[in-house]
Amino acid sequence: MFIVPEKEIAGLITADDAFDAVEAVFAAMAAGKAYNFPVVREAIGHEDALYGFKGGFDRAGMALGLKAGGYWPNNLEKHQVINHQSSVFLFDPDTGRVSAMVGGNLLTALRTAAASSVSIKHLAREDARVLGMVGAGHQSAFQLRAAAKQRDFKKVVGWNYHPEMLPNLAKVADEVGLPFEAVSLEELGAQADVIITITSAFSPSLMDVHVKPGTHLACMGTDTKGKQEVEAALLARATVFTDEVAQSTSIGEAQHAVVAGLLSEGDITQIGAVINGTHPGRTSADQITLFDGTGVGLQDLAVAAAAVQLARARGVAIEVEV
Ligand code: NAD
Repeated sequence: MFIVPEKEIAGLITADDAFDAVEAVFAAMAAGKAYNFPVVREAIGHEDALYGFKGGFDRAGMALGLKAGGYWPNNLEKHQVINHQSSVFLFDPDTGRVSAMVGGNLLTALRTAAASSVSIKHLAREDARVLGMVGAGHQSAFQLRAAAKQRDFKKVVGWNYHPEMLPNLAKVADEVGLPFEAVSLEELGAQADVIITITSAFSPSLMDVHVKPGTHLACMGTDTKGKQEVEAALLARATVFTDEVAQSTSIGEAQHAVVAGLLSEGDITQIGAVINGTHPGRTSADQITLFDGTGVGLQDLAVAAAAVQLARARGVAIEVEV
């Protein structure tokens, strides 16, 4: 098997590589060639940690495996390592033998940013010029960098629950050559043509009334039962897309609209159907499109497989006998 350590990932895989891998696996999912296994997520009763597995099999890309990991809230303070920890394990689909272990921390950020980017490519208006960011934590930088490539954006507007974190986002906007303005949620909704929400909130910040017609939203923060970033009524007004419908209605942003009876499973479309051309996606300039990005195991396998390929080609994969 090959080991690709976390420290090698940054030098191996670019945001563009991650985009291609994620777009391809979303397409395979909608074509019925790839499927995710049920997610396991457990509070292990030690260090307040949440630990679990996300896995699947992609018959098109021949990627089989899982991401194991979770969230250790005390890591940074006690052990000076980041709170989110994960590793990806890949298996040979022909034999079941383990084929690779890959550091999954940076890959998680890259594949999550790639997912919202894929949604912007396929669903945002071509003339989108203002990017709105709700959230300014670890993931937001990756989200902003990746989104900036998808349209000819002229400006970034940002809001965060903890305003003192916004300068981090301003730095990233500067890095990609875009002016940044810290704004109220009202102003953000009035200006933005594309909005990414990437917070760990358990109650909505962005309300239906904030969002203007024609906006594309990528709601990326809600990946657990109970979390919520936008008002449920917004999902009722929008055309809703997702990575995986079962996750969208159970652990994604759509869970609240479904419980409130404003949305049902049948109203939600896999983004892969738009990529494959079996769903038209956006059909008018006034339509609000909303991508509920819940994060699926197949995304992790896709970017990990790409990282292994690159690592082997460049001689940085460590080969061990198992
Ligand atoms: P982080 O801890 O670095 O940042 C958290 C962000 O949420 C900050 O902007 C913070 O100000 C904001 N926030 C905290 N409490 C809030 C509240 N009550 N109301 C509004 N905003 C609030 O976290 P991160 O690593 O940037 O991750 C953000 C979210 O994305 C988390 O919920 C994480 O689980 C989720 N996530 C999703 C995927 C996916 O595939 N969909 C992948 C990775 C992370």
